[in-house]
Amino acid sequence: MTTIALNLQSVHERIARACAAAGRDVNEVTLLPVSKTFGPDAVQAAYNAGERAFGENYIQEAVEKQALLAALPIAWHCIGPIQSNKTRLVAAHFAWAQSVDRLKIAQRLSEQRPGSLPPLQVCIQVNIDGGPSKSGVAPGEALALARHVAELPRLALRGIMTIPEPAGDFDAQVAVHRRARALYDELRAAGLPLDTLSMGMTADLEAAIHAGSTMVRVGTAIFGTRPPRD
Ligand SMILES: *Cc1c(COP(=O)(O)O)cnc(C)c1O
Repeated sequence: MTTIALNLQSVHERIARACAAAGRDVNEVTLLPVSKTFGPDAVQAAYNAGERAFGENYIQEAVEKQALLAALPIAWHCIGPIQSNKTRLVAAHFAWAQSVDRLKIAQRLSEQRPGSLPPLQVCIQVNIDGGPSKSGVAPGEALALARHVAELPRLALRGIMTIPEPAGDFDAQVAVHRRARALYDELRAAGLPLDTLSMGMTADLEAAIHAGSTMVRVGTAIFGTRPPRD
């Protein structure tokens, strides 16, 4: 087996153990491998090991990679910041956009989604721990934004996504992730038909699953350490 296949196996085992510890069915949690900064060979190796969805942060990089892997039926998730001048690329080249945090961006994605493609699956990114320099809508504004996004014809609102700062220990991680779970439950109670709570990465996926995540986005534990990016 390749290193990537072995790494995937251990990440799936981590997810299974975390689900068991939390008394959850392993089928409630999806793994999204995050292939940013890694080349098409790495994606191909993970694909060969059974993965069919990948997360990418940098839109230009992702589109080039997608072109090289066009023969593979992969669902690409945009999980990085989306500027207005990139919405057309996201609308045309991704199955999901998880990092929607402004109505203007959502409107452009809906308008620009090609008619030949199914609706773009969308998560609202929420700045759950109030990091000052971070993307994401404030928790108190998530419901209003979600209601607007849910009305856009070419988008399918699926849930919320968070990227909390790395918190120290397990309990601190769980505390932050529980706030996101509470917000997700609140939006569902308000009538939004959400099924995706995207939270948890290499360092905190156990805590995220404990708190009720339905999708963990994992890069480092699968593909290795990324070179620093400026
Ligand atoms: C890079 C990234 C990940 C994966 O992080 P790892 O710590 O490498 O697992 C997940 N989500 C987002 C939004 C990212 O940018």
